[in-house]
Amino acid sequence: MSENILYKEFKSTLGAQSQNKKLHQTLNKSLENYHQKYLNGINQFENISSFKEKLQIIRSKSILQMEKYLLQFEGNFKKNGGELFWADDANDVFNLIQHIIGDNIKSVVKSKSMATEEIDFNAFLENQNIKVTETDLGEYIVQLRGEKPSHITAPALHLSKDDITLLFHEKFESSPDASAEEITAFVRKLLRREFTEAELGVSGANFLVADSGSICITENEGNASLTTAWPNIHIVLAGIEKIIPSFTDLGYLWPVLSSHATGQKISVYNHMISGPRQEEEGDGPEKMYVILLNNGRDNLLINKELRQSLHCIKCGACSNICPVYKIISGHSYNSVYNGPIGSVTTPHLRTDANFFHLSFASSLCGKCTEICPVNIPIDDLLLYNRSLAVEKEKMPKSEIRAIKLLSRILKSRKRMNMGSSSIRSLAFKIVFRKKWGVLRAYPDFPKTNFNKSRKK
Ligand code: SF4
Repeated sequence: MSENILYKEFKSTLGAQSQNKKLHQTLNKSLENYHQKYLNGINQFENISSFKEKLQIIRSKSILQMEKYLLQFEGNFKKNGGELFWADDANDVFNLIQHIIGDNIKSVVKSKSMATEEIDFNAFLENQNIKVTETDLGEYIVQLRGEKPSHITAPALHLSKDDITLLFHEKFESSPDASAEEITAFVRKLLRREFTEAELGVSGANFLVADSGSICITENEGNASLTTAWPNIHIVLAGIEKIIPSFTDLGYLWPVLSSHATGQKISVYNHMISGPRQEEEGDGPEKMYVILLNNGRDNLLINKELRQSLHCIKCGACSNICPVYKIISGHSYNSVYNGPIGSVTTPHLRTDANFFHLSFASSLCGKCTEICPVNIPIDDLLLYNRSLAVEKEKMPKSEIRAIKLLSRILKSRKRMNMGSSSIRSLAFKIVFRKKWGVLRAYPDFPKTNFNKSRKK
């Protein structure tokens, strides 16, 4: 396989990002802040390890019996008056949206949803001349900049307060010295108008509860309440892995999602929405639709090892602690799901591109696995992906050849002892320099080889 374009781009971005001091300062400050909050947040659990084991069981049960619970969810949601569709990929979603909205919609408000980012949902609507407004503050900021989110829970994590002030000054002529509170108040006012004018609200879901047929959304800004309650139509796009068996399970998952994402005991607003507005109700949409998205999740589901990655509750804690993410930031991954878990799942989602190189962007320090609230063995899965990449020849051939040559040398003491230490160091550098890049430190072979040191 020839070296893929994404891999080339990834390597050149890494070079630039690893030298970007301003980005490192911004990221370090925010990630350190998140980590301190996380440390406070997990204080609410008397025994976090046994709590994690309980969550692992809940998520494992949800994923192993996904079909049963999704069908139960469908039945209950339809009983509540909602309509539900199954989408195998992005095109299915777009066809369904067209079927639901026809030519009648001109303005859409959206609350945060990674599934919509995954399929480039906004671009699809904008191509139909439909105005889409992101209503989560971080999402709104990246939308104004024409960017994708750089983190699964904090979309504008890569930006400093000064970057954001400048953005609003340039776009809306707000004061160049505006405080964070002033900017927030300005956006709130601006978004109120969008909420009242929108004909359609689009959201994701943190969980889908099978026994009640409810979609669950947790948030801190109140924008998801308005997105899901104000417009006349509400469409939910959710990955099939979001399913959980029961309302009781939610009681375990919601607090741990908040503590690991933002250090809160529980987020400010937590919604369970079980269908459109009922006759006796004053608020809510007239029509509500759920679209369940596969888009390659079945590739993960059928694999005994990778299946565990579907347990993810998208708290973002593994990115916050990852030493690689801290240096390169989310955009370098070129994938909506980034950081350690994104590197595990992205190569298997439905895409024409080859993302296997992401599994190599890890120090395998294991911090991601340690912090994960649902005990996903992320570093093991990254290693597993690496072996798949070699097996399926998803790595550049020249790199595979270099590794094979190295392993042949390592298997023979005679070959290992060939040449002086400086020649061995130089040869190693020459063989790997092109693949590993100039910024990487290379090993210096010791002056005395193993046999000589044993004879002394
Ligand atoms: S893999 Fe674990 S730590 Fe990472 S986002 Fe998912 S649940 Fe959170």
